Amino acid sequence: MAKIVLVDDDPISLRIAEKRLSASGHEVLTASDGKTGLQLVRAEKPQLVLTDLMMPGMHGFSLIQEIRNDSSLSQTQVIVSSGKAYPVDIKKAKELGAAGYLTKPVDPEKLLEVVQSALSASEPDLKVKFWGTRGSIPTPGRATLRYGGNTSCVEVRCGEHIIMLDCGTGAREMGLALSREFKGRPLDIHLFVSHTHWDHIQGFPFFVPAYIPGNRLTIYSLRGADKSLEKIFTGQMDVTYFPVALSDLMAKLNFVEVEGVCSIGKVKVSHIYLNHPGLAIGFRIEMGRKSVVYVTDHEQYCRMLGDNEHNRNQEREVMEFARGADLYIREAQYTDEEYPSKKGWGHSTVSDVLESAHEANVRRLALYHHDPMRDDEAVDRIVAACQEQMTKRGMKFSCLAAADNLEITL
Ligand SMILES: [Zn+2]
Ligand SMILES: [Zn+2]
Repeated sequence: MAKIVLVDDDPISLRIAEKRLSASGHEVLTASDGKTGLQLVRAEKPQLVLTDLMMPGMHGFSLIQEIRNDSSLSQTQVIVSSGKAYPVDIKKAKELGAAGYLTKPVDPEKLLEVVQSALSASEPDLKVKFWGTRGSIPTPGRATLRYGGNTSCVEVRCGEHIIMLDCGTGAREMGLALSREFKGRPLDIHLFVSHTHWDHIQGFPFFVPAYIPGNRLTIYSLRGADKSLEKIFTGQMDVTYFPVALSDLMAKLNFVEVEGVCSIGKVKVSHIYLNHPGLAIGFRIEMGRKSVVYVTDHEQYCRMLGDNEHNRNQEREVMEFARGADLYIREAQYTDEEYPSKKGWGHSTVSDVLESAHEANVRRLALYHHDPMRDDEAVDRIVAACQEQMTKRGMKFSCLAAADNLEITL
């Protein structure tokens, strides 16, 4: 949803555009002349302005110039909607900084399409990098070179914000890469931990940025069943297990026991309970219209507990949580054949994950938390089996197996 200002002295055009854009969830403000329009734009700082050219008070060309010359409006896109169709006018509007030009009468669907694509183009990228994609235990060695052997860790860059999902052993390399990139500049890292089983936290004591004074590390997860989140992390670094104590880390640590949605600038992170021994949660990261959903270590309710309405509803909540995700990172540790001997271990089957991703209408699925028993060829076979099931079922999203060091830009 974006804030949009419409500037047009023709009440009919104004009403049609307002109706269509509001119906698709945008906040729409209107002005019927150029001068009022400019005041409104300066006061509201919208993501997008749709303006007519021939208007009383101030014409559209001047309005575009005023907006482009105002540094506080650098994030505001301008689109022209005009009855003028001369190439010279279109060229001039674009030279002055208009991102698009529509000739009236404008079909409302076409208008929405142009507005959405201008809004997407103006949003910062959401970049995902996998640092650890193995489940349960690290699996170094020649058999896992392509997909990698580090345990759960994913970096999500939302513009300037650095979000980290879990800190299994992949966290070590992520920390080193950040140190190289920032070269001593202070880091502000937001670490979201799905749960505190070893394969999701074991890289934490080796995460270099936590040792550097001036860095900030905020750790978000649930409170434990019987102890605080901070106590759980303190316990992991108890002298019995590790030579450095949590209190010795020089970065500023802040523990957040999540309750509702967390906001990091314009980024929103929400969570959902998963079906896994102990407490575990999945995360949904949203920035503008882009979204990544991270659901790891979840056993399908119906598979484990029986196919009844209650369990179907619980599973539907997990599916809905992933609704429309641009990237769905999802643990899919077992095949249907393997599952009976692993029932109650807290993990999903590949075929259940495909069905859920299909129902949730995600754009892309990354199979994650590969079983430690699988070598690279075995992961390839899982992907091939997925393609087969997807073709048979007419599933349209793309599917890949996450691999250490794989980067995806959304
Ligand atoms: Zn795990
Ligand atoms: Zn687990």
